[in-house]
Amino acid sequence: MLLATTCFFSNEPENRNLPRYQTKSMKSETDIQRLRQALQELPHLSKGPSAKQVKKLGELIDSDLPLQSFLEMLLPEVTALFGGIAAVAWMKAQGAPGAVFGVRYRMDGVVSSVTEHRKHDRLVQIALQQKQPMLAEPTAANAENEDEGNPTEHALIFGPVLHAGESIALLEVVLDKSDRALTKAEKHLYLRAVQLFANRVYGGLRQRMSMPDPTLQQAMDQMNQLSNDIKSLQQQIVRTIESRLQSFHGWSFGSLSENQAFAKMVHQTLDSHGLRVECPECGHPAILRCLRAGNSKYGAFVFDHYLESGRTFHGGRSTVPLLKVVPKPARRVALSTLA
Ligand SMILES: [Zn+2]
Repeated sequence: MLLATTCFFSNEPENRNLPRYQTKSMKSETDIQRLRQALQELPHLSKGPSAKQVKKLGELIDSDLPLQSFLEMLLPEVTALFGGIAAVAWMKAQGAPGAVFGVRYRMDGVVSSVTEHRKHDRLVQIALQQKQPMLAEPTAANAENEDEGNPTEHALIFGPVLHAGESIALLEVVLDKSDRALTKAEKHLYLRAVQLFANRVYGGLRQRMSMPDPTLQQAMDQMNQLSNDIKSLQQQIVRTIESRLQSFHGWSFGSLSENQAFAKMVHQTLDSHGLRVECPECGHPAILRCLRAGNSKYGAFVFDHYLESGRTFHGGRSTVPLLKVVPKPARRVALSTLA
């Protein structure tokens, strides 16, 4: 991973899927509160930004200023709100892939030599490719790969402004020099704040420039991401159910009807999530039942399933077996429909 030692990416899931098309009034109120809170928690500010400062930002975004003037006024604001010393708004040039132009505020002393500019430009390109905020701390002068990294003496925070899941712009904030590295918790606070800030700025950019139409591919990418998220949530559900069911291992209740009531509850819970228990004998998905059995006073717990030979019961312990949860098999096709 490029720059793995110097950059810190947020992996907070909430950053990825923030809704961007809610109505302005609904979204603005909560966004402003979240942004203000995130800014107030930043480590380098003895006192967080006032409500007035954050309100001023909102007024600037909603103002009639054209793009260039808007950005020129935005940068001193972002610098102050983050307790930084300089900032840049990087904009992707439309119709010229890979080209970016920056509106700079107080950047003269931050990046000076040609080499520094080259390294810094590379860092900006990397940050633009990320769809999540990034923090780059100064790269040590004797670093192994001298072509990469943050050539400045300042920590840099990058917040991508996303449209339809793609970066269209990037906010860069230069923090004041520090004699110590930022802690993980501090980095996290900066990343969260810059993401919320970038989301807010997106509203300001939308009013002032034409945005490319979203493509079907972008929708597909986001739907794939959603599928992956759902899959991981489902796995979490299965694990939660299984670990709870395993806590009943070895239990038995005082009568056949109570054992049967337990087995029924287990099945109902599993069935409502498209799940079954796995038969420990043959590995097939099965339904847990408790059946009257000759030698067992309160019945025997069995695994009920259809095998090639027909309906079969495996197991037969008098106490709840250790239950393993598996997906429900596809519905069996009736023989008549196969003809
Ligand atoms: Zn079996």
